[in-house]
Amino acid sequence: MPADSPPLTPDCGSCAGLCCVALPFAKSADFAASKPAGTPCAHLADDFRCAIHERLRPSGWSGCTVFDCHGAGQHLTQHTFGGRDWRSEPALRAPMFRAFPVLLHLHELLRYLTEAAERAPRRLYEDTEAARARVAALTAYDPDALAAVDVSAERARANPVLTRVSKAVRATLPGPRPDRRGADLLGARLRDADLRAANLRGALLIGTDLRGADLRGADVTGADFRGADLRGADVRGVLFLLPGQLRAARTDRP
Ligand code: SF4
Repeated sequence: MPADSPPLTPDCGSCAGLCCVALPFAKSADFAASKPAGTPCAHLADDFRCAIHERLRPSGWSGCTVFDCHGAGQHLTQHTFGGRDWRSEPALRAPMFRAFPVLLHLHELLRYLTEAAERAPRRLYEDTEAARARVAALTAYDPDALAAVDVSAERARANPVLTRVSKAVRATLPGPRPDRRGADLLGARLRDADLRAANLRGALLIGTDLRGADLRGADVTGADFRGADLRGADVRGVLFLLPGQLRAARTDRP
Protein backbone atom coordinates (compact mmCIF):
# COMPACT_ATOMS: atom_id res chain seq x y z
CA MET A 1 0.00 0.00 0.00
CA PRO A 2 1.49 3.39 -0.98
CA ALA A 3 2.43 5.59 1.99
CA ASP A 4 -0.06 8.32 1.02
CA SER A 5 -3.02 5.92 0.88
CA PRO A 6 -5.54 5.28 3.64
CA PRO A 7 -6.30 1.59 4.34
CA LEU A 8 -8.78 0.29 1.78
CA THR A 9 -10.09 -2.63 3.83
CA PRO A 10 -13.05 -2.04 6.16
CA ASP A 11 -12.50 -2.00 9.92
CA CYS A 12 -16.05 -1.87 11.26
CA GLY A 13 -14.83 -1.76 14.87
CA SER A 14 -13.29 1.67 14.20
CA CYS A 15 -16.37 3.09 12.44
CA ALA A 16 -19.44 4.83 13.85
CA GLY A 17 -21.83 2.58 11.90
CA LEU A 18 -21.89 5.05 9.03
CA CYS A 19 -23.09 2.68 6.29
CA CYS A 20 -26.04 1.73 8.52
CA VAL A 21 -27.08 5.36 9.02
CA ALA A 22 -25.87 7.68 6.29
CA LEU A 23 -27.06 5.62 3.30
CA PRO A 24 -30.69 5.09 2.20
CA PHE A 25 -32.15 1.61 1.58
CA ALA A 26 -35.14 0.66 -0.53
CA LYS A 27 -37.08 -2.44 0.48
CA SER A 28 -36.15 -5.14 -2.04
CA ALA A 29 -34.65 -8.60 -2.36
CA ASP A 30 -31.49 -7.12 -0.77
CA PHE A 31 -33.01 -5.13 2.10
CA ALA A 32 -35.90 -6.21 4.31
CA ALA A 33 -37.02 -2.63 4.96
CA SER A 34 -36.67 0.88 3.57
CA LYS A 35 -35.05 3.77 5.37
CA PRO A 36 -34.01 7.27 4.34
CA ALA A 37 -30.44 8.56 4.37
CA GLY A 38 -29.41 9.87 7.78
CA THR A 39 -31.70 7.57 9.78
CA PRO A 40 -30.14 4.71 11.74
CA CYS A 41 -31.17 1.21 10.71
CA ALA A 42 -33.43 -0.37 13.34
CA HIS A 43 -30.83 -3.12 13.84
CA LEU A 44 -27.92 -0.83 14.62
CA ALA A 45 -26.90 -1.40 18.25
CA ASP A 46 -25.65 1.25 20.70
CA ASP A 47 -22.04 0.17 20.13
CA PHE A 48 -22.41 0.71 16.34
CA ARG A 49 -22.50 -3.03 15.68
CA CYS A 50 -25.20 -4.88 13.79
CA ALA A 51 -27.55 -6.70 16.16
CA ILE A 52 -28.37 -9.32 13.50
CA HIS A 53 -24.90 -9.70 11.98
CA GLU A 54 -24.94 -13.51 12.26
CA ARG A 55 -28.30 -13.86 10.50
CA LEU A 56 -28.31 -11.10 7.90
CA ARG A 57 -29.09 -13.30 4.88
CA PRO A 58 -31.93 -15.34 6.42
CA SER A 59 -33.38 -12.09 7.79
CA GLY A 60 -33.58 -10.55 4.30
CA TRP A 61 -30.57 -8.23 4.55
CA SER A 62 -28.24 -9.83 1.99
CA GLY A 63 -27.43 -6.35 0.65
CA CYS A 64 -25.51 -5.69 3.86
CA THR A 65 -23.39 -8.84 3.45
CA VAL A 66 -22.01 -7.68 0.09
CA PHE A 67 -21.54 -4.03 0.98
CA ASP A 68 -17.94 -2.84 1.20
CA CYS A 69 -16.96 0.70 2.20
CA HIS A 70 -13.32 0.09 1.18
CA GLY A 71 -12.21 1.58 4.49
CA ALA A 72 -14.13 4.85 4.07
CA GLY A 73 -16.12 4.33 7.30
CA GLN A 74 -13.20 4.11 9.68
CA HIS A 75 -11.30 6.78 7.74
CA LEU A 76 -14.13 9.29 8.11
CA THR A 77 -14.69 8.41 11.78
CA GLN A 78 -11.09 8.26 12.95
CA HIS A 79 -9.30 10.75 10.71
CA THR A 80 -11.73 13.17 9.05
CA PHE A 81 -13.65 13.61 12.32
CA GLY A 82 -10.83 12.72 14.74
CA GLY A 83 -12.60 9.83 16.49
CA ARG A 84 -15.80 11.78 17.23
CA ASP A 85 -19.21 10.34 16.37
CA TRP A 86 -22.72 11.44 15.45
CA ARG A 87 -24.38 9.81 18.47
CA SER A 88 -22.31 11.55 21.15
CA GLU A 89 -22.36 14.81 19.19
CA PRO A 90 -25.61 15.18 17.22
CA ALA A 91 -24.25 18.35 15.60
CA LEU A 92 -21.94 16.09 13.60
CA ARG A 93 -24.78 14.19 11.97
CA ALA A 94 -25.23 16.45 8.96
CA PRO A 95 -21.54 16.97 8.12
CA MET A 96 -20.68 13.29 8.69
CA PHE A 97 -23.57 11.97 6.64
CA ARG A 98 -22.85 14.46 3.86
CA ALA A 99 -19.17 13.56 3.63
CA PHE A 100 -19.53 9.77 3.94
CA PRO A 101 -21.00 8.98 0.47
CA VAL A 102 -18.31 11.16 -1.11
CA LEU A 103 -15.50 9.39 0.73
CA LEU A 104 -17.10 6.05 -0.08
CA HIS A 105 -16.84 6.75 -3.82
CA LEU A 106 -13.32 8.09 -3.47
CA HIS A 107 -12.14 4.98 -1.62
CA GLU A 108 -13.62 2.74 -4.29
CA LEU A 109 -11.95 4.80 -6.99
CA LEU A 110 -8.69 4.70 -5.08
CA ARG A 111 -8.93 0.94 -4.87
CA TYR A 112 -9.27 0.67 -8.64
CA LEU A 113 -6.45 3.13 -9.28
CA THR A 114 -4.16 1.39 -6.79
CA GLU A 115 -4.62 -1.90 -8.62
CA ALA A 116 -4.16 -0.12 -11.95
CA ALA A 117 -0.87 1.44 -10.80
CA GLU A 118 0.33 -1.97 -9.64
CA ARG A 119 -0.49 -3.62 -12.96
CA ALA A 120 0.18 -0.82 -15.43
CA PRO A 121 2.91 -1.40 -18.01
CA ARG A 122 5.87 0.92 -17.67
CA ARG A 123 4.69 3.36 -20.37
CA LEU A 124 1.39 3.95 -18.51
CA TYR A 125 2.73 3.90 -14.97
CA GLU A 126 3.43 7.61 -14.53
CA ASP A 127 -0.06 8.77 -15.56
CA THR A 128 -1.72 6.00 -13.58
CA GLU A 129 0.25 6.73 -10.44
CA ALA A 130 -0.53 10.45 -10.79
CA ALA A 131 -4.24 9.66 -11.00
CA ARG A 132 -3.96 7.42 -7.94
CA ALA A 133 -2.06 10.03 -5.94
CA ARG A 134 -4.63 12.70 -6.83
CA VAL A 135 -7.50 10.63 -5.41
CA ALA A 136 -5.45 9.63 -2.36
CA ALA A 137 -4.95 13.34 -1.65
CA LEU A 138 -8.69 14.01 -1.96
CA THR A 139 -9.45 11.40 0.71
CA ALA A 140 -7.45 13.49 3.21
CA TYR A 141 -9.66 16.57 2.78
CA ASP A 142 -11.53 18.06 5.74
CA PRO A 143 -15.34 17.54 6.01
CA ASP A 144 -16.37 20.67 4.12
CA ALA A 145 -13.85 20.19 1.33
CA LEU A 146 -14.81 16.53 1.03
CA ALA A 147 -18.50 17.32 0.70
CA ALA A 148 -17.66 19.70 -2.16
CA VAL A 149 -15.74 17.12 -4.21
CA ASP A 150 -17.39 16.43 -7.57
CA VAL A 151 -17.31 12.63 -7.53
CA SER A 152 -18.70 12.29 -11.06
CA ALA A 153 -15.93 14.52 -12.39
CA GLU A 154 -13.30 12.47 -10.53
CA ARG A 155 -14.71 9.26 -11.96
CA ALA A 156 -14.73 10.75 -15.46
CA ARG A 157 -11.11 11.82 -14.99
CA ALA A 158 -9.98 8.38 -13.74
CA ASN A 159 -11.95 6.26 -16.17
CA PRO A 160 -9.74 6.71 -19.25
CA VAL A 161 -6.72 5.82 -17.13
CA LEU A 162 -8.36 2.62 -15.89
CA THR A 163 -9.54 1.73 -19.37
CA ARG A 164 -6.09 2.23 -20.88
CA VAL A 165 -4.46 0.03 -18.24
CA SER A 166 -7.11 -2.65 -18.66
CA LYS A 167 -6.66 -2.71 -22.41
CA ALA A 168 -2.87 -2.80 -22.18
CA VAL A 169 -2.82 -5.57 -19.58
CA ARG A 170 -5.38 -7.71 -21.40
CA ALA A 171 -3.56 -7.28 -24.70
CA THR A 172 -0.58 -9.16 -23.25
CA LEU A 173 -2.69 -12.10 -22.07
CA PRO A 174 -3.71 -15.15 -24.05
CA GLY A 175 -7.39 -15.66 -24.80
CA PRO A 176 -10.18 -14.60 -27.12
CA ARG A 177 -10.67 -11.24 -25.29
CA PRO A 178 -14.40 -10.99 -26.09
CA ASP A 179 -15.82 -7.49 -25.70
CA ARG A 180 -18.93 -7.84 -23.53
CA ARG A 181 -18.76 -4.40 -21.99
CA GLY A 182 -22.14 -3.52 -20.48
CA ALA A 183 -23.66 -6.69 -21.94
CA ASP A 184 -26.95 -7.97 -20.59
CA LEU A 185 -26.04 -11.54 -19.67
CA LEU A 186 -28.72 -11.92 -17.03
CA GLY A 187 -29.33 -15.62 -16.43
CA ALA A 188 -27.18 -16.57 -19.43
CA ARG A 189 -25.68 -20.04 -19.66
CA LEU A 190 -21.97 -19.49 -19.83
CA ARG A 191 -20.86 -22.69 -18.21
CA ASP A 192 -17.22 -23.49 -19.15
CA ALA A 193 -17.12 -20.37 -21.38
CA ASP A 194 -13.73 -19.09 -22.48
CA LEU A 195 -13.78 -15.52 -21.18
CA ARG A 196 -10.05 -15.05 -20.80
CA ALA A 197 -9.06 -11.38 -20.93
CA ALA A 198 -12.68 -10.45 -21.69
CA ASN A 199 -14.00 -6.95 -21.28
CA LEU A 200 -16.91 -7.39 -18.86
CA ARG A 201 -16.98 -3.84 -17.51
CA GLY A 202 -20.47 -3.06 -16.25
CA ALA A 203 -21.86 -6.37 -17.54
CA LEU A 204 -25.11 -7.65 -16.06
CA LEU A 205 -24.29 -11.12 -14.80
CA ILE A 206 -27.19 -11.55 -12.38
CA GLY A 207 -27.93 -15.24 -11.97
CA THR A 208 -25.55 -16.11 -14.82
CA ASP A 209 -24.25 -19.66 -14.92
CA LEU A 210 -20.48 -19.23 -15.00
CA ARG A 211 -19.59 -22.59 -13.52
CA GLY A 212 -16.18 -23.66 -14.72
CA ALA A 213 -15.80 -20.53 -16.88
CA ASP A 214 -12.30 -19.28 -17.57
CA LEU A 215 -12.23 -15.63 -16.53
CA ARG A 216 -8.49 -15.24 -16.17
CA GLY A 217 -7.44 -11.66 -16.87
CA ALA A 218 -10.99 -10.45 -17.55
CA ASP A 219 -11.90 -6.87 -16.61
CA VAL A 220 -14.97 -7.01 -14.37
CA THR A 221 -15.16 -3.38 -13.25
CA GLY A 222 -18.65 -2.80 -11.87
CA ALA A 223 -20.02 -6.09 -13.25
CA ASP A 224 -23.10 -7.22 -11.35
CA PHE A 225 -22.52 -10.78 -10.13
CA ARG A 226 -25.55 -11.05 -7.83
CA GLY A 227 -26.61 -14.68 -7.74
CA ALA A 228 -24.13 -15.65 -10.49
CA ASP A 229 -22.75 -19.15 -10.16
CA LEU A 230 -18.97 -18.98 -10.14
CA ARG A 231 -18.30 -22.42 -8.73
CA GLY A 232 -15.28 -23.91 -10.42
CA ALA A 233 -14.62 -20.69 -12.38
CA ASP A 234 -11.03 -19.54 -12.76
CA VAL A 235 -10.76 -15.92 -11.65
CA ARG A 236 -6.99 -15.68 -11.37
CA GLY A 237 -5.65 -12.33 -12.50
CA VAL A 238 -9.11 -10.83 -12.98
CA LEU A 239 -8.91 -7.05 -13.19
CA PHE A 240 -10.79 -4.77 -10.78
CA LEU A 241 -12.70 -7.52 -8.97
CA LEU A 242 -14.02 -6.20 -5.65
CA PRO A 243 -14.68 -8.46 -2.64
CA GLY A 244 -18.36 -7.48 -2.62
CA GLN A 245 -18.76 -8.80 -6.17
CA LEU A 246 -17.52 -12.22 -5.08
CA ARG A 247 -19.68 -12.20 -1.95
CA ALA A 248 -22.73 -11.50 -4.12
CA ALA A 249 -22.04 -14.59 -6.24
CA ARG A 250 -22.13 -18.28 -5.49
CA THR A 251 -18.56 -19.53 -5.22
CA ASP A 252 -16.64 -22.52 -3.94
CA ARG A 253 -15.70 -20.55 -0.86
CA PRO A 254 -17.46 -21.66 2.33
S1 SF4 B 1 -29.09 -4.82 9.08
FE1 SF4 B 1 -27.21 -4.56 10.29
S2 SF4 B 1 -25.54 -4.29 8.75
FE2 SF4 B 1 -27.51 -3.95 7.71
S3 SF4 B 1 -27.85 -1.73 7.86
FE3 SF4 B 1 -28.89 -2.63 9.59
S4 SF4 B 1 -27.41 -2.56 11.27
FE4 SF4 B 1 -26.29 -2.25 9.36
